[in-house]
Amino acid sequence: MTESSSLQSTAPATVIAVRDLVKQYDTKTALDGVSFDVHAGEIMGLLGPNGAGKSTTMKILTTYLTATSGSVTVDGHDAQVDAIKVREILGYLPESTPLYADMVVWDYLRYVGAMRNYPKAELDKRVAEAIRMVGLHEYVGFQISQLSKGYRQRVGLAQALLHNPKVLILDEPTSGLDPNQIIEIRNLIRELGKSHTIILSSHNLAEVRQVCDRVVIIHRGKVVADGTLDELEGRLASNHPIVVGLQLSSGTSKADAVAQLQGLPGVDKVLVSHDTQVPVPHTIFEIEAQDDLRAQVAAWAAKQGHTVLELRRKSMDLEGIFQALTQDNQA
Ligand code: ADP
Repeated sequence: MTESSSLQSTAPATVIAVRDLVKQYDTKTALDGVSFDVHAGEIMGLLGPNGAGKSTTMKILTTYLTATSGSVTVDGHDAQVDAIKVREILGYLPESTPLYADMVVWDYLRYVGAMRNYPKAELDKRVAEAIRMVGLHEYVGFQISQLSKGYRQRVGLAQALLHNPKVLILDEPTSGLDPNQIIEIRNLIRELGKSHTIILSSHNLAEVRQVCDRVVIIHRGKVVADGTLDELEGRLASNHPIVVGLQLSSGTSKADAVAQLQGLPGVDKVLVSHDTQVPVPHTIFEIEAQDDLRAQVAAWAAKQGHTVLELRRKSMDLEGIFQALTQDNQA
């Protein structure tokens, strides 16, 4: 983070430090040396395909599982040594929240809160506050079974917030919701992110882009990337080919064009991508180069008398980033 020179550098405090986490389930190594930090005020996305190790990481963070080796500290407390303190700091929304469907929302949250032994007045205050934070006030008298999945997820979030935790750990918080509910829950998470440090897991790349400040990508139990999405895209910038759509001047074949483009300084490889008829017949070429050679390609096309209908760097979407980062690890 760059600060103005008149300000002191204020790197955000590390709230969660995960170091060399290994989790072995019998013969299966679910986590194989996972390390990352989460800073105060961040919404951090733990991203990876199914089976990557996201839930296992979250269960260890929340002290529901012990690691085979490695450490987790939460606000300076070791999760394995000081589990009770860590559970006070963390609110956890597991992937499938066990809710008592025949209970009324208010009673259910009071029931969950009562397990923490709050005095009655304090308990009512905390339930009311959690209900306010997740926007459930109109539904306090509803049976959980009457609620949509999105609103049930809000009950799960209210439950995670009851003890006023500093950090929220949300395991696949939008899984199983319909598109409108997904938008609502994502907005709610962003809102909660203003007052909490959040880790959420997802296998949905678009979700992480919309909700998270930073992403840790895990694949087969290892961290393959850690940074902001901009940083990740920057790191992979040399993987962005140039796409040029050309109506070739008469007498120039596609093979001629490929050969000429191949001769431009800095060009590594040229491919004919496809022909298209819209808006007029032309051919799309892809040019791989370490640098952005769009100006040189435009100058070459003008000199050769080709009409340029399209000229851009192929943007790497999150799917592309994910594939580029994980392809080395694929069997
Ligand atoms: P994710 O949450 O990213 O889908 P998990 O953490 O659930 O991944 O699982 C990581 C790996 O560990 C997977 O290969 C999974 O099959 C395995 N695994 C998870 N839980 C257990 C368990 N209780 N016993 C054996 N293997 C498990």
